[in-house]
Amino acid sequence: MKASIRKPVVILGAGLAGLTAAHFLHRNDVPVRLFEAGNKIAGLAQSFHDEEGFTYDFGAHFVTNRLAKAVGIADKCRTVRHYAETVWLGGKSYSYPFGLLRIPRMFAGGLRSQLNLSQGKSATAAEWFRASYGDALADEVAIPLTEAWSGAKADKLSSAVGDGIANSVAQTLWLKLASRLTRRAVSCGYSRELPENAGVYHVYPEGGIGTLCQALAADLNGMIQLESPVEKILVEQDKAIGVRVGGREMEAAAVISTAPVNVLGKLIEGTSSLAYLTPFRYRPMVFVNLRLHGRGLLPDVVTWTPEAQYPFFRLTETPLSMPWLAPADKTILTVDIGCEKSDEFWQMADERLGEFCVAHLQTIIPDIRSRFEGCRVMRTPVAYPVFLREYETERQKFARGTGIGNLYSIGRNGEFMHIFMEDVYERTKQRMAQLTQSLTAQKRLSVFPVLSPKPQLS
Ligand SMILES: Cc1cc2nc3c(=O)[nH]c(=O)nc-3n(C[C@H](O)[C@H](O)[C@H](O)COP(=O)(O)OP(=O)(O)OC[C@H]3O[C@@H](n4cnc5c(N)ncnc54)[C@H](O)[C@@H]3O)c2cc1C
Repeated sequence: MKASIRKPVVILGAGLAGLTAAHFLHRNDVPVRLFEAGNKIAGLAQSFHDEEGFTYDFGAHFVTNRLAKAVGIADKCRTVRHYAETVWLGGKSYSYPFGLLRIPRMFAGGLRSQLNLSQGKSATAAEWFRASYGDALADEVAIPLTEAWSGAKADKLSSAVGDGIANSVAQTLWLKLASRLTRRAVSCGYSRELPENAGVYHVYPEGGIGTLCQALAADLNGMIQLESPVEKILVEQDKAIGVRVGGREMEAAAVISTAPVNVLGKLIEGTSSLAYLTPFRYRPMVFVNLRLHGRGLLPDVVTWTPEAQYPFFRLTETPLSMPWLAPADKTILTVDIGCEKSDEFWQMADERLGEFCVAHLQTIIPDIRSRFEGCRVMRTPVAYPVFLREYETERQKFARGTGIGNLYSIGRNGEFMHIFMEDVYERTKQRMAQLTQSLTAQKRLSVFPVLSPKPQLS
């Protein structure tokens, strides 16, 4: 074997995407080196446990039985029996999506939009929501929520924001019904790569969401290096040839990045062809996990709060789905606040954030103050990719590939896509199959070099 094929594929990031990539390449006998900037694996898929018996998930809470099986941890998972969402409007909760149709103006607007077959193509997210849901539902629910999580006005966002909301009304109805009949939280809107059906439901791994990543890392002994941010990706003649880590250069057969794309744009040395990625934005998020006495304090597992009086947009009472995440007579309520790294929420001390959330939650849980036992705050600077119209053309170009030979950008932040874990896993698996094929072809070329150009056919 030529020396060149034994150069490792270098992977940046030991979240779900990086570990999936390493796992599949290693299984195909491709040498791998994985560098992680942080001091732990799993990235956004981490869970933390405290001495009082509470478990806090960092980003993800809900994974499918199909993903757990694929990763080989199906027997280490508990079935999630219940999952439902509501919207809090005018002091009342409405189940999402169908309960909202009890409001006559939302029903009428929704019906009109469904019957309007002459809809043109929407350019902005605002137009897309109005055309798809009708004015009332768009203006009172969908648009304010989108603006809260993205931090951008809906008319400045691309209509591609709607691409993630894929399921039809009939499909959603069927999946909700299947959930009731099977008494399992049938997955609805969590997978786009593979079909959702009554047999795909949420599970929770023993030890937390990070167990998925630990399973993938199990056969990667000695290949993962923590606290080692990749400083540069070296490119020569439009091909990735290595990386710089800890000031030292290392050759690579290919480089796979799971870093946010605006960071990737700055990591490249040797070409400016990805400089267009640097203005791409991600929305930072603060998660305030309130520890409360009692349980069943919210109308259901997830409650969306689109009204302007609320500084947060989503509340999740995870123990309603996963009772084991809190002691029996207690609960956790996760408050999602979209923010910027320069604003008051990002900077606010944890205790003050807890008090702030409690004060704003009194209209939903009147006795919350007497139930409050403390909070644990988590922050991430890269929660949601923001699809601004100003870089929509570049976003679509990037979706077709990096344009640099042997450089792949994968995962939620690396693809700049609103994807959940099963899709991260599936998409990464497919791309690693392509990379393995491409490396094999490159190896064949290096063993049997083409000596003369092919004859022209015409
Ligand atoms: C608020 C929120 C809720 C979610 N809820 C769900 C859910 O319920 N169900 C679900 O399936 N999915 C959910 N997701 C999505 C899921 O968490 C992600 O899709 C998945 O964890 C992304 O994995 P990743 O490997 O792509 O990225 P990450 O987990 O972000 O991993 C990237 C890693 O790369 C490292 N890194 C970055 N730069 C460098 C560098 N230069 N050198 C070395 N390392 C570097 C980072 O430290 C990080 O560890 C949620 C996401 C968010 C934000």
